[in-house]
Amino acid sequence: MKPANSLMSGLGTTVFEVMSALAREHQSVNLGQGFPDDKGPEAVRAAAATFLLEGHNQYPPMMGLPELRQAVAEHAKRFQGLDIDWQSEVLVTSGATEALADCLFGLIEPGDEVVLVEPLYDSYLPIVRRAGGIPKLVRLQPPAWDLPREELAAAFGPRTKLILFNTPMNPCSKVFDREELEFIAGLCRQHDAYAVCDEVYEHIIFDGRRHVSMMGLPGMRDRAVRIGSAGKSFSLTGWKVGYVTASREVMKSIAKTHQFMTFTTPPNLQWGAATGLRLDDAYFSTLASDMQTKRDFLANALEKIGFDVLPAHGTYFVTTDFRPLGFNGTDEDFCRHITVEAGVTAVPVSAFYDTVDAAPRHLARFCFCKHDSTLEQAVERLSKHFTK
Ligand code: PMP
Ligand code: GLN
Repeated sequence: MKPANSLMSGLGTTVFEVMSALAREHQSVNLGQGFPDDKGPEAVRAAAATFLLEGHNQYPPMMGLPELRQAVAEHAKRFQGLDIDWQSEVLVTSGATEALADCLFGLIEPGDEVVLVEPLYDSYLPIVRRAGGIPKLVRLQPPAWDLPREELAAAFGPRTKLILFNTPMNPCSKVFDREELEFIAGLCRQHDAYAVCDEVYEHIIFDGRRHVSMMGLPGMRDRAVRIGSAGKSFSLTGWKVGYVTASREVMKSIAKTHQFMTFTTPPNLQWGAATGLRLDDAYFSTLASDMQTKRDFLANALEKIGFDVLPAHGTYFVTTDFRPLGFNGTDEDFCRHITVEAGVTAVPVSAFYDTVDAAPRHLARFCFCKHDSTLEQAVERLSKHFTK
């Protein structure tokens, strides 16, 4: 038989699946893969359930239900002051994962250079490469994860088609501030590049910080593409409802990709997501403050156990340096060790790099979007293990 596509068949299984399987095998408390214990807002689930029983469960419009596209545009106005034409500038996708693939396949021409920021979410690189893009990686360094401006500027050139980045950022929980975003925007304007902005954690942001959408910066309205996810904003990660916002021109090729990638997304879930995006401001601020309380609990407890805990300004995750515990091994060894020996699972941060050689090997990511009882159990198990 002829070989399958070499790039895709050469990939390993994603770290989330690997660590969740190991957690199941060892009945460990799974603080690896990022998914909330919470059921999500009842109004959102009820809207989806009612639509499922009573609504029109046939192909929705290719761009998405008008109600959801309108809600995405209203939400962008409410939180980012953006004026979005819901008919031509909003596309509903099956999760942010599909949104990312639609943008990359829709925008990249083979041979184009694509700037990416490590550590990066694990779906980015395979899709960039499969689309024929040439990755130009810029690395943030722990523990501050500051943007290395000179390196970033050097990564841009005449062949740069786009930069793809994520804020608030998984796994390192960095939030890009306005100045950093303006610096990136300047490079995009200078090199006539797009900015594909993965903003799935836009509402999961702490300590009074505010999410700034690149699309709202001067000169970026028509260059930036904004990606959101109902999974993150409504604690419903299994739903896989995402949305892309882009100018009419940029949207054209993204939507063409979507039409042959999935074409549509389940209409009842779209209806539920529309209900969610219209929830009042209190819902969104409570989501952030609840997550912040959980971050504080887990970060403090891990520090007491002996980890060095890195700052976490947003997302579901806290990154820790386990070297002070005296563990001699890689991050993969550590995450496997605590799963098997302590009954708690985390994710090795080196999984978020193109190659492990370039990655830090002393960091483990813990997820805190869990019930208090889950977090307490994890902490109890870890402290028992490390005080032996
Ligand atoms: N981007 C980032 C940074 C994520 O953490 C996730 C979470 N899985 C996604 C994209 C994908 O989101 P979705 O589940 O909506 O496909
Ligand atoms: N975004 C989630 C994480 O970083 C997991 C997504 C997935 O399992 N594909 O943990």
